[in-house]
Amino acid sequence: MSLNWNRGFTIDFNLATGLSGAVESTKRRASNMKGMYCDSKAELELIENGDPLMYEFHEIGAPEDSGDVAAGTSIVYPGKVGDEYYMTAGHFHTILATAEVYYCLSGQGYMLVENKDGDTEAYELNAGKMVYVPKGYAHRSINTGNVPLVTFFAFRADAGHDYGTIKQRGFKKLIVDKSGTPTIVDNPRY
Ligand code: MN
Repeated sequence: MSLNWNRGFTIDFNLATGLSGAVESTKRRASNMKGMYCDSKAELELIENGDPLMYEFHEIGAPEDSGDVAAGTSIVYPGKVGDEYYMTAGHFHTILATAEVYYCLSGQGYMLVENKDGDTEAYELNAGKMVYVPKGYAHRSINTGNVPLVTFFAFRADAGHDYGTIKQRGFKKLIVDKSGTPTIVDNPRY
């Protein structure tokens, strides 16, 4: 497969499986997310009992150039750790002032965003919704439904990912299951 980044290309992009298996997805299991969920006991039990796949994403591997666009799909599987729904690790972009567009193809959930001043918002995701993640905001998607949450994303290809900041301090808000209703609550560990 050759993608001509200088003259353009079309590509059969299977939204659920990425590039028809041509490029391996990046997979995140419970063990890769250790320490990110509030209920560490439930987290450990999951790791010891099958270490389930929580999410994966496919990217087209754009050159890391300010004029190129990185794109791909993200799939968050349904499930919970204690009362917290499966979610992505979340990240800022290394080039902080980089926005990103997500388009939800199927499933339901939220895009949680937060900037370095602590401004936070939770945007609902369902099929057909586009979310604009503004410059300077960390972002995490959360599956509150019973089927995979599939989104397509695109952003400036040289932006890079800063996972460390969120890994260290988490997000201000969590989305938890309260008697069957997804509820936004303050993160007690923040
Ligand atoms: Mn991003």
